[in-house]
Amino acid sequence: MAENKVIICCQCQKELEPKKTYFTYLGHSFCTDILKCPQCGEIYIPEEMVKGRMAEVEMQLEDK
Ligand SMILES: [Zn+2]
Repeated sequence: MAENKVIICCQCQKELEPKKTYFTYLGHSFCTDILKCPQCGEIYIPEEMVKGRMAEVEMQLEDK
């Protein structure tokens, strides 16, 4: 990641921490670091990251 900005949970005012999280998309699962609030468990997913990952998965599916 290029930027090192801190994301704060809007509910708890706590700094979100990166956590390995599993996702399933189009029947494909993958694991990535996601910022998560240590208090309420709220996750923050940057839209660009989602798009990048989803595009990767879609490409993998097309290869079949
Ligand atoms: Zn929170």
